[in-house]
Amino acid sequence: MPCQQTIYGKIIYGPEAEVIEGYILVEDGIIKEVEEKRNDSGHIIAPCFVNAHTHIGDSIYKDPVLGKVRGHYVERDLSQLVQPPHGLKHRILARTSHKKMVQAMKNSLMDMNNTGTYAFADFREGGIKGVIALKEALESSDINAKIFGRPGNCKEKRDISEELEELLINSDGLGMSGANDMDITILETARQHSLKRNKTFAIHAGESSRDDIEKALTFDPDILIHMTKATNQDLRGVADMDIPVVVCPRSNFITGVGMAPIIEMLDNGIKVAVGTDNVMLNSVNMFAEMELLSKIFGIDDRQVFMMCTLMGAAILGLETTGSILEGNIAKIMIINGNSNNLTGIKDPISGIVRRGRPDDILSVII
Ligand SMILES: [Zn+2]
Repeated sequence: MPCQQTIYGKIIYGPEAEVIEGYILVEDGIIKEVEEKRNDSGHIIAPCFVNAHTHIGDSIYKDPVLGKVRGHYVERDLSQLVQPPHGLKHRILARTSHKKMVQAMKNSLMDMNNTGTYAFADFREGGIKGVIALKEALESSDINAKIFGRPGNCKEKRDISEELEELLINSDGLGMSGANDMDITILETARQHSLKRNKTFAIHAGESSRDDIEKALTFDPDILIHMTKATNQDLRGVADMDIPVVVCPRSNFITGVGMAPIIEMLDNGIKVAVGTDNVMLNSVNMFAEMELLSKIFGIDDRQVFMMCTLMGAAILGLETTGSILEGNIAKIMIINGNSNNLTGIKDPISGIVRRGRPDDILSVII
């Protein structure tokens, strides 16, 4: 007997995120039917989120001191917080046991599930050991992960071919810190190996200054992260090379690097997805990113919603998910449109984007 479920409500349907009233039939995890039909269900049926950039290893440390303590700024600067190898998070990661780290990552995976995320892409530190720790955490989770590993030590010039091969066999690609953070020959070798294995090469660029952008582009990366300081000329180059960008608005605020030119990215035709970045700095809650993108960046609500769902899925190669469409794998959240928070909203997308919260979710199918 096939496992079937019919759900009525207002459906955020298809690649254009059109709102229709009707039902969806899910059979054995696949969306079999979507039909328009009037109903009085208060449910909003929405695709789940894709969190396109995280570092969930630092789930072990969630409350670094930020800002002023007795007149002095403490651990606020980006390099002091997260830059390898001596940034705060790397010092903490180095002294955390495998068991403790796996458990902390499991908690973040469960939190992703509770907050409506079905897939994420993680920049995994710690070399092959780091990749294996995340795989262990994922064993008890239904969340879809793209793991982008990196060699254990990128500062010193050394032969990393063997390490890269092991990393690439065990991961979905490489997630490099930044073009100015490491020896250039290491970066060149890493890119060659990723091409040889046909795996993703992703890199942070333009986060706190634009002086690593040109260098990053010489590697023709598959995904760029941040581009906070990119000029319009930089963005035209990125658009010409057809490289997608993952932006991390909350992370950029907390590290003090400012607002990414997201509207200019979209105007240049760049595919833009969204990530919550370091768990040390932010929760994995994508509703919080959406609210910020709508209210502070002034981006159209439908566009925001698509950046956090469909666009992330497209960038990560998860094409049969990311939207509610016949034939797609069902990755769906059912939201209570009659919750105290959402009751009375006229447009389900604007309602969810501007004021939706994890506690409005009734259930998640992933
Ligand atoms: Zn990052």
